[in-house]
Amino acid sequence: MKLLPLRCPQCGQKLEPHHNDVVVVVCMHCFTAVTLHQTGLQPLDVYYAAPGNDRVDAWLPVWLFHGRVHLHQRQSQGSSKGADKDAAELWQRVQRLYAPAWQQPARQARELGSKLVQAQPLFQAIPRPDGALLGETIITPEDGLKLLDFIVLTIEAERKDMLRDIKFNIEAGTPALWAIPAQKKGDSWQLAARV
Ligand SMILES: [Zn+2]
Repeated sequence: MKLLPLRCPQCGQKLEPHHNDVVVVVCMHCFTAVTLHQTGLQPLDVYYAAPGNDRVDAWLPVWLFHGRVHLHQRQSQGSSKGADKDAAELWQRVQRLYAPAWQQPARQARELGSKLVQAQPLFQAIPRPDGALLGETIITPEDGLKLLDFIVLTIEAERKDMLRDIKFNIEAGTPALWAIPAQKKGDSWQLAARV
């Protein structure tokens, strides 16, 4: 195993991720986002989303994939006519797939991801606002795709027809990392991007 010094590829300052499982960390000196690969460190573009209002408590990382979900088969216990139609309409419409990438319980990540996938918000990129710091990213793009599998399942299982079996595949390219403004609500976060 080769140990790499964690230094910003842009300015040379030391990078200090707070957890072992961080996959993207922001340099506190020049604010470059850096991907921590086993093969080396690489700068990564981060898109900051315009906030919907003044209060921003954090900028949370979300992988945004452009892609499609292809539904091949959907079987349910009950009558599934309405549900099949809703499913077909949804996946016809969906072009953006969102994988929340910060540290949070898996169930919360799934619920938030399914809300985003169904709402299809179009974030507006702005230059990094002064003081905005991307939260630590612990989900890789590959894990983001696995999370999206669960998100699709969650959405389909929540339909009223008692889903029994489903076959689908996700077609998606390389995702972009977005920093989404958020507000603290109790123990969790509420996204507050302008859409
Ligand atoms: Zn730097």
